[in-house]
Amino acid sequence: MRKLTILVDMDDTIEQLLCAWIRSVNEKFGTCVAYDDIKSWDVSEAFPGLSHDDVYDVILEDDFWDSVEPVPGAAEALRSFMEEGHSVYIVTATPYQSVKAKMEKHLFRYFPFISWDQLIITSRKQMIMGDVLIDDAVHNLIGGSYRKILMDSANNRAFDTSGTDIVRCMDWDQAREIIAGMAAED
Ligand SMILES: [Mg+2]
Repeated sequence: MRKLTILVDMDDTIEQLLCAWIRSVNEKFGTCVAYDDIKSWDVSEAFPGLSHDDVYDVILEDDFWDSVEPVPGAAEALRSFMEEGHSVYIVTATPYQSVKAKMEKHLFRYFPFISWDQLIITSRKQMIMGDVLIDDAVHNLIGGSYRKILMDSANNRAFDTSGTDIVRCMDWDQAREIIAGMAAED
């Protein structure tokens, strides 16, 4: 079996940022936007009465990260990859203001087997080397020397993967199947 270097995004790949984000904005501003109303990468487009900063400042508050839930199956998948001998790196474009709260309140809480030296913070993911990147953001999967797994999310439903080198997966069970297939290749 091949040992892979597996790059894994955080937001809406291993944790449910969008759900917590929409809930927090709705509570703060009295809106009633639902998860499936998010149609694009810019979440503020789903809140036409609010400014971009109204929507994006919410996730810069440290307390926000107490409300973010992990994606079901993500921790089990990452742990199993590591137990199988693969290298796992979290690659996230987290803003510098959020790093401490997000890592303490989420990553190291729900994924305690991940250490700081497995964390890469960058918005230039194409510069990172690895065998595969699992990410919900299409813009991180265009280009790059890695193979590409798109984690299904409300923000990327409009993207058609046919004719691209990107494979969509609906959940972590499917992601594990794809990784197992890659590891079994000659
Ligand atoms: Mg993401």
